[in-house]
Amino acid sequence: MQNFLSKLEKLEEQKIISKNKIENLKNKLKEISKEIEMIQSKIKQKTEEKRKIDLEIKQFELLIKEEEEKIRKWENQLRESTKFREQKTLMDEISEAKKEKSKIEDQLLELIFKRDEIENELKKLKEESEKKIESYQQKLNELQNEITNSENEYSEITSKIQILVKELESNFPEIFIHYLEVSRDKRIKKPIAKVERSTCTSCYLVLSPEIEVRLYTNSSYEICPNCGAILYVEIDEEEQPRETAQE
Ligand SMILES: [Zn+2]
Repeated sequence: MQNFLSKLEKLEEQKIISKNKIENLKNKLKEISKEIEMIQSKIKQKTEEKRKIDLEIKQFELLIKEEEEKIRKWENQLRESTKFREQKTLMDEISEAKKEKSKIEDQLLELIFKRDEIENELKKLKEESEKKIESYQQKLNELQNEITNSENEYSEITSKIQILVKELESNFPEIFIHYLEVSRDKRIKKPIAKVERSTCTSCYLVLSPEIEVRLYTNSSYEICPNCGAILYVEIDEEEQPRETAQE
C-alpha cells in the first residue's frame, strides 16, 4: 500500500507542477499578445496623426488658393480701373490678401515640417515593429506548442491518476472515500502526503510519536490531524510482505 500511495502522491505532485506550468505558459502568451497589441495600437495612432495632418495641409493649401484668386481678381480690376479711390481700395485689399497669404504659407510650412516628422516616426515605428512582431510571433508559436505538449502531459498524468484511483477504490475502499473528500477540499495542498522527518509534507505539522509508531508498525495509513491528508511512510523493501499479509 505504501508503494501505491507513494505512486499516487508523486502523480498528484506532477499534476500540480504540470498545471502551474500550463498557467505560466498561458500568462506568458497573454503578455506577448498584449505587447503585439500595444505595438499595433502605436502604429494606428501614428497613422491617424498623419491622416489628420494631411487633411490640415489640404485645407491650408485651399486657403492659399482662395487668397491667390482674390489677388488675381483684384489685380485685374486694378488694371481696368480708372478711378483713383477704387484703385486705392483695391491696392489695400491686395496688400491685405498678400499678407494673409504669406501668413497662411508660414503656417503651412510648419505643418509640412511636422508631417515629415510624423512620416519619419511612422516609418521607423513600422520598421521596428516588423522585427519585433516577427520575433513575438515566433515566441507565440513556440509557447503554443509548449502549451499543447504540457496539456498532453497533464492529461496523461490525469489518466494515470484515474487508473490508480480506480485501483484505490477496489483495493482500499476506505482510503478511497477519504481520498475523494480530501481531493475536493481546495485548502488541502496534497491529498496524499509522505511523512518525512516526522512531519506531514502537506501542512508541515510535526506529528505525534503515536501516529508515527502506528504508521510503522501497522504499515497502514493515517489521517493528518491538522490538514486531513492521507499520511504514509516509506517502509524498506523487506518489510513489504507484512503489508500483503495484513491485507
Ligand atoms: Zn497535514
